[in-house]
Amino acid sequence: MKLITLGKPVDIAAVFPELAEFARTTVRLHPRWGEPTAWDSSLGGPLLWPADEAWPHCTDHQAHERSGYTETEPVPLVAVLQLYAHDVPELPFPNGTDICQVLWCPFVHQPGLVPRVELHWRSEVAVTAPLEAAPDPVPASSGNYLPATCLLHPERVTEYPYPGDPLPPELLERIWEGDGPWSYQHHLSVAPGTKVGGWVSFAQDPSWPDCAYGHPMDHLLTIASRESDGESWKTWTPVEEEALAEVEASPIPTHDRTDLLYRPGHPSELMIGDAGSLYVFVCTTCPDTPIIAWSDS
Ligand SMILES: [Zn+2]
Ligand SMILES: [Zn+2]
Repeated sequence: MKLITLGKPVDIAAVFPELAEFARTTVRLHPRWGEPTAWDSSLGGPLLWPADEAWPHCTDHQAHERSGYTETEPVPLVAVLQLYAHDVPELPFPNGTDICQVLWCPFVHQPGLVPRVELHWRSEVAVTAPLEAAPDPVPASSGNYLPATCLLHPERVTEYPYPGDPLPPELLERIWEGDGPWSYQHHLSVAPGTKVGGWVSFAQDPSWPDCAYGHPMDHLLTIASRESDGESWKTWTPVEEEALAEVEASPIPTHDRTDLLYRPGHPSELMIGDAGSLYVFVCTTCPDTPIIAWSDS
């Protein structure tokens, strides 16, 4: 299955040529229900993990207690995302690696009130004896942080910064003034949903973190609750799914329908904050490529 987002109703870079220098490519991952193996890129699917390497656990008992989980046993992390270099070569794979694995602890943690994220870079050929099955999530895990099992359908699109990100105020003012039926913020600029690289679809004021050594960090990837929202679906829905998106935008409840391939706009079944997104930033200057994950929803 190939998913393609059509061109926008307004070519905003033709209207405002100064925007061209801010164009970036993002890889929309388009997670959709499926049955991935450990050799597939996936969201919520099995990871290619060496059987002789301990599965990561979280020991932040205080955070778990705040969520009402009082057991003191370490909590097994949950597989969230696996990306192979042949599917998403845009990721900054450290030398000798070709898989990026994102896991998290399925409880709210400080700072940022998001699940605690861990990232593992790995080499496919180095995994000669794969783990057969990851540990089950503890039953008390927040259901908001247990992803449905999805295959990915990467698509490259051009996008422009979230309003106020690095745009000159004078240009932004002219963009606002020229706002017609299509809004720059919701319809024409930054792609919503789960994606790799490109700009960040912030919910609040833009904020780009520095690493502990003061290096500006890059947007590595976003894991979103929804593929689009009440406005952005109008221009960011893949053409193959526009009929489904119209179903979602209508008042007809979709959860009773059995003919839908997935719940439109919400295939991952994740809920980060108030239908928000978790942003993962990476420092590619530091040799151990540290990450910071947070959400502004
Ligand atoms: Zn934890
Ligand atoms: Zn750094």
